[in-house]
Amino acid sequence: MNDSTFRKVAVLGAGVMGAQIAAHLANAGVPVVLFDLAAPSGDPNGIVTKALKGLQKLEPAPFVTRDRVNYIDIANYDQHLELLRECDLVIEAIAEKLEWKESLYAKIAPHLAPGAIIASNTSGLSLAKLSAVLPESLRADFCGVHFFNPPRYMPLVELIPAPATRHGVLDRLEPWLVSRLGKGVVRAKDTPSFVANRIGVMWLLTVAHHTERLGLAFDEVDALTGPAIGLPKSATYRLLDVVGLDTLGYVIDGLRSALPDDPWQCHYTVPGWVAALIDRGMLGQKTGGGVYRKQ
Ligand code: NAD
Repeated sequence: MNDSTFRKVAVLGAGVMGAQIAAHLANAGVPVVLFDLAAPSGDPNGIVTKALKGLQKLEPAPFVTRDRVNYIDIANYDQHLELLRECDLVIEAIAEKLEWKESLYAKIAPHLAPGAIIASNTSGLSLAKLSAVLPESLRADFCGVHFFNPPRYMPLVELIPAPATRHGVLDRLEPWLVSRLGKGVVRAKDTPSFVANRIGVMWLLTVAHHTERLGLAFDEVDALTGPAIGLPKSATYRLLDVVGLDTLGYVIDGLRSALPDDPWQCHYTVPGWVAALIDRGMLGQKTGGGVYRKQ
């Protein structure tokens, strides 16, 4: 075992990203405890169980192979927080709302193993703000680790220090992400939406507003912004369905409030037709309907 190896990883959130990050870890032979909220009724681990079932049936190949699904233990925050003691890395991947992440950090803090690294998969919230809710003794071990979707195919991971992150944290994560998980790491500063999303969201918003203004069809835009220019089929709107429309909305809201004086400020708005889909609960693949496949 070398210095950068993690023995067990807790992943907080079994949604689009958390479940897939857990699957990617399991496929790489890393034991995982996958947490989510306790379901309000019935099976308290229902959210995680459902996510794991989904990962095994996704086409063209299951996201986690049958023999590796045993590497994932399922847990909820009401009953199983003591399992965090066994984990030397915690990856938080819950919904992109500052106050939800903050309250979860306050809840898990007393249960963390001494020296465990706590890393947020936030798309671009302030790591300074997120780390501020951790007890001072834990802030040195906190940073951002931003995987891209889908994590098993997308090589990019942004690693972002928070103001109090000690030097060794990123130096330990980076070789592990590269050699164990096959990622390419870019170190970014703690600025709103970091690097890739700051650029990518502007691009997506520009395309979305022009779609409306020019009266273009979604598949027409996907063709024009995808294979026709050498990019994948899931270039724009198929990708948006994979990402989740609500998540895009949270990221735009985050940019707008973090950058009040930005010259692009007027562009940080959720296009009306996207907001209408969100209001109807059509959030993309995770709800079975979004831009494509209307419910
Ligand atoms: P998601 O909506 O698929 O899942 C969110 C999860 O958070 C759910 O399992 C839900 O049960 C849980 N949750 C909701 N409210 C909670 C609360 N108050 N306390 C604890 N858990 C709660 O979201 P996602 O797409 O997996 O995004 C997770 C994180 O990863 C976000 O920070 C997002 O910005 C980031 N991210 C998303 C993508 C993407 O393409 N979707 C890519 C990179 C990073």
